[in-house]
Amino acid sequence: TPALAALAYHDGEFVPLERAQVPVTTQALQYGTGVFEGIRAYAQADGGLAVFRGHDHYQRFLRSARTLRIRLEPDARELCALTAELLRRIGADTDMYIRPLAYKRALLPGTPPGVQLTGVSDALSVNAFRMGSYTDRRGIRVAISSWRRPESAVLPVRAKVTGGYVNNALAVDEARAAGYDDAILLNSRGQVAEASTSNVFAVVRGRLVTPPVTADLLEGITRDTAVTLAADLLDVPTDFHDLGREDLCLADEVFLTGTGAEIVPVTEIAGRPVGDGVPGPLTTALTAAYHEVVRGKDQRYRHWLQSVGPG
Ligand code: PMP
Repeated sequence: TPALAALAYHDGEFVPLERAQVPVTTQALQYGTGVFEGIRAYAQADGGLAVFRGHDHYQRFLRSARTLRIRLEPDARELCALTAELLRRIGADTDMYIRPLAYKRALLPGTPPGVQLTGVSDALSVNAFRMGSYTDRRGIRVAISSWRRPESAVLPVRAKVTGGYVNNALAVDEARAAGYDDAILLNSRGQVAEASTSNVFAVVRGRLVTPPVTADLLEGITRDTAVTLAADLLDVPTDFHDLGREDLCLADEVFLTGTGAEIVPVTEIAGRPVGDGVPGPLTTALTAAYHEVVRGKDQRYRHWLQSVGPG
């Protein structure tokens, strides 16, 4: 595979990646006052590249930005268009990961220094890099984290805020140090919230169960895709209700959903096998359906794919 052009969209223009930098005085660097997204583009079965559910990601991005009073010029459509433009300029020809970042930059004249959201300028950057599937379809082993997910009275957990990811990083670090692949975090009520960068599903008596947004989690776009595909293609309904750690131990199958992780079977939780300790039939069927959809093989979901077009 030929090298890609190292470019980013940064401060309103396409620049060499090494010029997409921030000063050490950047407010978001000091206080975590940024918001971001993770989006995938997939090589399509009939050739070309397409962004998967880009508009939904950018709508969430703009909602996240509003919670931090970050004002962006482009709307969701324009963000989709500039992302496609970036991918064309990069020469992207295979599976890509796209990382938009909007953040608090510098104090406006007259604003005294300090932690704040007003009186600070906003900035936008988008970068992208090659990334194929990275999760093991044979399943992963997860810990139950000793770190709790903050409740939404503490942080806007439904927004994708950079500073909030200190919690996720601590949970992943703890899990990896103990030999696990990932961590599931409980919320302040002791119920399942989500995994470090994905949502959690259990399969219980032929139905999917996933915690509701009130369980302090990010409303994943892959979570929505999984719910939709399960209902449409597998005739499997989803119940949105609280899950305790015991429910996970008793579930027939457990899987995680996320843009990066895609759909990943969980075969062990905190030292106990899930079901038979191998990926279950529903998880396997859903994973297969997901990969057909993101590759544009299923006409019914072509509206989720935005073609990047020729360079
Ligand atoms: N929860 C968290 C904390 C995440 O970071 C992510 C990844 N964006 C998800 C869930 C899954 O969201 P999505 O399916 O939209 O990628």
